[in-house]
Amino acid sequence: MQVPLLDLKRQHAALREELRAAVERVFDSQQFILGEDVGKLEAELARYTRAKFAVGCGSGSDALRLALMALDIGPGDEVVTTPFTFFATAGAVALAGARPRFADIDPRTFNLDPDRVEEAVTPRTRAVLPVHLYGQCADMGGILKAAARRNLLVVEDAAQAIGAEDQGRSAGAVGAAGCFSFYPTKNLGAAGEAGLVTTGDGPTAERLRRLRAHGGATEYYHREVGFNSRLDTLQAAVLRVKLPHLDSWSEARRARAETYTRLFEEAGLTEFVTPPFVSPGARHIFHQYVVRVPAARRDPLMAHLGEHGVGTKIYYPVPLHLQECFAHLGYKEGDFPEAERAARETLALPIYPELTAEQQAYVVETVGRFFG
Ligand SMILES: *Cc1c(COP(=O)(O)O)cnc(C)c1O
Repeated sequence: MQVPLLDLKRQHAALREELRAAVERVFDSQQFILGEDVGKLEAELARYTRAKFAVGCGSGSDALRLALMALDIGPGDEVVTTPFTFFATAGAVALAGARPRFADIDPRTFNLDPDRVEEAVTPRTRAVLPVHLYGQCADMGGILKAAARRNLLVVEDAAQAIGAEDQGRSAGAVGAAGCFSFYPTKNLGAAGEAGLVTTGDGPTAERLRRLRAHGGATEYYHREVGFNSRLDTLQAAVLRVKLPHLDSWSEARRARAETYTRLFEEAGLTEFVTPPFVSPGARHIFHQYVVRVPAARRDPLMAHLGEHGVGTKIYYPVPLHLQECFAHLGYKEGDFPEAERAARETLALPIYPELTAEQQAYVVETVGRFFG
């Protein structure tokens, strides 16, 4: 049996005709940049994420960079964030001219630990940038409290968490800005690059709209320097076809996560395989289903699964404080033990709405044969 890490072809087959019609409408209009579908998608996504304003842009990475720029975070400033995330989170801080300051994660959720955030704050710290990793929100109650005590802005990297909730708070609608990615493999995926920033503040939304178009409020009159990160109409049209399905896809992902966890328990494998922890009061949307295994067994398990047709991946093998490009920040191995341990012990298993019960049983059986 083959169980790829992700299989987007099945989703596409179900939507093929609708997508084709939507794409044809854009071609007929010949409005390829910020066309009618972009405005409509922004309104639909503002409603979906329960933010007041939503501004489309070129990618999730750009969303982070635009959000930091719109909040005036730049040279001389520091932003506290997690070292256990996709590169773009800290890359955006550096591109904005600010300094990433890392704080360790909660080993159960893999998300930024609010207690560690406060320890990392200095007089230069302007913001905290939590990531809702794998589709589960960071502890936003704790982070909001820490931010309030230290007078910090909160910017959410919600690239993996569209539709996730923490104690009824919607991912991306809690902080001063929320950043989303529609990279094709995300839960809501475009047919190319696309992203979005949400905010509850009107002037910030206006500024985001300017910054994504070279800082011009009106064409050829530039109030400040921005860059080009407009959203393609084709991408918006594709996303509008998919958005109505997102809740049922998230439900299907959660059901599959529960099935995996039950199967690992029934097979008596939880001595070796720690299933994901779901925080009480969380709506986890399972962008990834990531298990922990003993560090010495992780890479051999990955190879075993690969040999038996099961796709897996490590998100992420090198914590950001140990990346070559951040050597000048002066961190060393041992600075963030939980992030380093997570990088050695975690493995993502296939999860998507179309994953079948037979495939899941096969994945767990194959893991069982490795440890058995
Ligand atoms: C995907 C992702 C991004 C970047 O989004 P792109 O659309 O690929 O630029 C940023 N942060 C996290 C946590 C992501 O998973």
